[in-house]
Amino acid sequence: MIYLLKLNIILGVVIVFLGPPASGKGTQAKLLAQNQFCHFALGDILRRESQTNSELGNTVRKYIESGKLVPDEIIFEIFEKFTNKQKIIFDGFPRTEAQAKKFVSVLKPEDCLIIEFDVSEEQLLNRMRSRAATEKRQDDTEEIFKNRLKDYNNHKDKILRVFRENQFEIQKIDGNLSLDVIAAQIMALIKQFEQSKKVQS
Ligand code: AMP
Repeated sequence: MIYLLKLNIILGVVIVFLGPPASGKGTQAKLLAQNQFCHFALGDILRRESQTNSELGNTVRKYIESGKLVPDEIIFEIFEKFTNKQKIIFDGFPRTEAQAKKFVSVLKPEDCLIIEFDVSEEQLLNRMRSRAATEKRQDDTEEIFKNRLKDYNNHKDKILRVFRENQFEIQKIDGNLSLDVIAAQIMALIKQFEQSKKVQS
């Protein structure tokens, strides 16, 4: 059975980490998960599913191992059954224009803060190489990784346009900096966002 959660729209603070593969989204999201945030890591959910021998698991595995995006219909099935958490981080969602449209159709801009990770390609490749040595992910090869990066760059502007057109706040951070500095910047953005929410309500 896939990791299904129940969707509810009374979400309080919704953070979206938007960034290329190996940009540090997962690492930062895990840190925030220690601060009452629920970490919705789509890649991890899909990887877990792909390790089962279910029909869905077998389908998902083919996409993940070749570095291709899993079809939107499968992703929507997971997203639509989401839990009602007060604080949540989306790590790896949305990744297509259709997913972004789905996102803005159920969530309100005043509840969401989109954080875009900007990281140089050289840095991304270095991080991927060190991750490949430790985590042994099938999709962490130079060729597959470059395709994933290309895919991200192809989708990014369309996703950002959907957010902008629907008045979602987008903040950009320099993801080339050290883990601690990025974590501090993210915390500052979240505090500022929570403060402005309080002022509005
Ligand atoms: P990640 O762990 O975020 O690097 O994601 C690993 C793989 O999971 C991706 O290369 C895709 O095959 C799949 N995946 C993760 N998130 C999504 C998504 N939102 N839409 C489609 N496929 C996804």
